[in-house]
Amino acid sequence: MNRLEILRATAAELGAAIAARTVTSVEVTRAFLDQIEAVDGRVHAFLHVDAAGALAQAAAIDERLDGGEKLGPLAGVPLALKDIFCQEGIPTTAGSKTLEGWRPPYDATVTRRLQEAGIVILGKTNMDEFAMGSSTENSAYGPTHNPWDLDRIPGGSGGGSAASLAAFEAPLAMGTDTGGSIRQPGAVTGTVGVKPTYGGTSRYGVIAMASSLDQPGPCARTVLDAALLHEVIAGHDPADSTSIDAPVPPVVEAARSGDVTGLRIGIVTELGGEGYAPGVEQRFREALDLLREAGAEIVEVSCPHFRYALGAYYLIMPSEVSSNLARYDAMRYGLRVGDDGARSTEEVMSLSRAAGFGDEVKRRIMLGTYALSSGYYDAYYGSAQRVRTLIDQDFDAAFQDVDVLVSPATPTTAFKLGERVADPLAMYKSDLCTIPSNMAGNAAGSFPCGLAPEDGLPVGFQVMAPPLADDRVYRVGAALERKLAERWGTGTLTDQLADGEAGAYLNLKEA
Ligand code: GLN
Repeated sequence: MNRLEILRATAAELGAAIAARTVTSVEVTRAFLDQIEAVDGRVHAFLHVDAAGALAQAAAIDERLDGGEKLGPLAGVPLALKDIFCQEGIPTTAGSKTLEGWRPPYDATVTRRLQEAGIVILGKTNMDEFAMGSSTENSAYGPTHNPWDLDRIPGGSGGGSAASLAAFEAPLAMGTDTGGSIRQPGAVTGTVGVKPTYGGTSRYGVIAMASSLDQPGPCARTVLDAALLHEVIAGHDPADSTSIDAPVPPVVEAARSGDVTGLRIGIVTELGGEGYAPGVEQRFREALDLLREAGAEIVEVSCPHFRYALGAYYLIMPSEVSSNLARYDAMRYGLRVGDDGARSTEEVMSLSRAAGFGDEVKRRIMLGTYALSSGYYDAYYGSAQRVRTLIDQDFDAAFQDVDVLVSPATPTTAFKLGERVADPLAMYKSDLCTIPSNMAGNAAGSFPCGLAPEDGLPVGFQVMAPPLADDRVYRVGAALERKLAERWGTGTLTDQLADGEAGAYLNLKEA
C-alpha cells in the first residue's frame, strides 16, 4: 500500500491488510506519524505525539504476526487517544495547565484494552480543559482547527480526536462523552462518534468530569470501524463501580448488517425547529427519507421533558465537577504556585487553583459549589435530579413505541473559532440534542448525513437507543452510511473532504 492508500483506508481494511501481511504495522504507523508531522501544525489535533512508543508497539505487533500469532481485527492499527485517558508514563493533561507535565503511574482500563487488542497509540489529542466545552477553545494549549475549514471549531470537548480523523492523521480515535463530547465533534467534522450505554465502557483511569454522566466511546470515519473499536473497549470492569456486568451488545454484527427493515424510528419533536440551521434540518429530513427507503418506519414522538435537559445538566454536571476537581489541591496533584515557605497551605491551594484552572472550569466549580450549598441543595441539585428522572421516563415511554429515537446531533454546523467564546449560553446550546442521553444513560451516536447547503459543512444525524441496545445505534448508522454512499457515489463524507480542495492543505494529494 502506498502512503495515500494507507491514510485513506478504513481501520477494518488496515487491520485486514496487516493481518494478511500485505503491509506492516510499522509502515502504517509511520504513514500516520508522517501525516501528523505534515498537517498538525495547522490542525493542532495532538497535544503529545509518542512516535517512538508507537513505532515500538507497531514493531512488536509485526513480530507477533510474523511469528504466526492470530490477533484481533484491529491489531497493528493506529489510534489517537483523547488526553483524558491515563496512559502509563505518557504526559496526560486533560487540556489543563494544572496537569502539565503529569505522567500517570497506571493505564486506564480503556488504554489497557486498546493495547491488548494490538492497537497502536499514536499520541494524546487536544480537548477542552477537563472536557468542559463544545469547541476545544477551552484547552489551555490552544484550540484545534476543523479540517473542513481551519477558521472553524472542531467541536468539543473531543475536538482533537475528531479532527485527527478528518485530517487523516489517525484511522481511529477515542473520546469521552459527558454531554455530547463525542457526538458533537463527530457531527461537525463529518465523522462517526458513539456514546455507549452508561456503564458499558469503563471509566477507570479516565480523568473525571461528572462521574454520573462520563462515558468513553469510539470515534472513527466509518460505522464498522467505530463498532470494531467499541467491541475492543466495552465490557465489564470490576475496577469501575458503575460498570455493567452484562454481555457487550452485538455492535459489529449490527454495523455489518445495517438492516433496518421494520425498525420503528421516532423523530423527537422537541429536538428541532427554532434555533436549528436550515441546512441541518434539511439533511436530517433527507436522511430520514433514506431510512424509510431502507425499510424503516418513521413516526413522530414527543419527549416533553427534554426541553429542561440543558438546564438540569448545567446543575448536575457542575455539582459533580466541583466535587471531582477538589482533588487538584496542589498537594496531591497538579500545579503548585506560591509555595515559598511563608504562605499557609490554604493560600498555596488557592493561588495554585487560581493559576491552574481556566475560566470555564472556574465558572463550573463556582456554579456547582453554589448548587450544592446547604439551603440551595434541594432547590437546585434536588430539582435537577427530579428532572433527570422525568427525562428517563420520557425515554422509557418513547421506547415502548419505537426502537430508536433520532434528531440532529447538534443544532448548527461548525461555527467560527472565537464566535461563542464570550457567550457561554450560546456555547452550551451546542449540546441541546445530546444531553438527554447522558442524563438517562442510554446509548447514542452521531453519523455524518451530508453537508449543509448554506455553508458546505458537515451535519450529524443522531440515533438514540435504549440502554444496552447499542447495536441499534450502529444498525441505523450503517443503513444510513450505505444509502448515502449510493447517493453520493463516493465512500464517506471525509472522502469528499479529501477529494476536494482541502485535500491539498491536508496533504492528501499525490506529490
Ligand atoms: N459540551 C458539553 C459541556 O461543555 C459536554 C462536555 C462533554 O461531553 N465532556 O459540558
